[in-house]
Amino acid sequence: MKIAVCPGSFDPVTYGHIDIISRAANLFDRVYVVVLPNPRKKSCFTVEERLEMLREVLAHLDNVVCEHYEGLVIEYAQRRGAIAIVRGLRAVSDFEFEFKMASMNHHLDPEIETVFMMTSNEYSFISSSAVKEIASFGGDVSKWISPSVAERLKERIGTRKGLNP
Ligand code: ADP
Repeated sequence: MKIAVCPGSFDPVTYGHIDIISRAANLFDRVYVVVLPNPRKKSCFTVEERLEMLREVLAHLDNVVCEHYEGLVIEYAQRRGAIAIVRGLRAVSDFEFEFKMASMNHHLDPEIETVFMMTSNEYSFISSSAVKEIASFGGDVSKWISPSVAERLKERIGTRKGLNP
């Protein structure tokens, strides 16, 4: 069985993430979507909330499992018997960071490949941070996140004044 891992913060999940995960689910027998702690980012939703939203929007994909892990992605991938880590690439600006991560992970375990998927055109500019920023100013984000995620975001941003995404 060919297993892949899609790691990320998913704070919250966007249609850009769903696009990458669905395409990975077409290529691999099983895909583990894993929420990992990201010390570089201040989060808006708890890990449990992010997982709930992921499970909701990915419920139609029966070979996708959502989990969280407190540790290195490579460690998680080894535990799950994955052969690949799938990441999405949007702009050139993603490249440097992703290149460093992929090289580091390759050193940690050369048996696990990092696979990059180019974003679909319509999602190339979407990020969780942009969605949070636009929503915090009352902008319409319905094209980029599911209605239930939008509802939660509206509630959260309404109760967390001064949120700095
Ligand atoms: P991280 O904090 O690890 O970058 P994110 O939740 O921001 O996690 O993203 C998880 C993965 O989804 C990353 O590989 C990221 O490049 C990809 N991704 C995010 N938004 C998009 C998008 N709009 N199109 C394609 N890939 C995306």
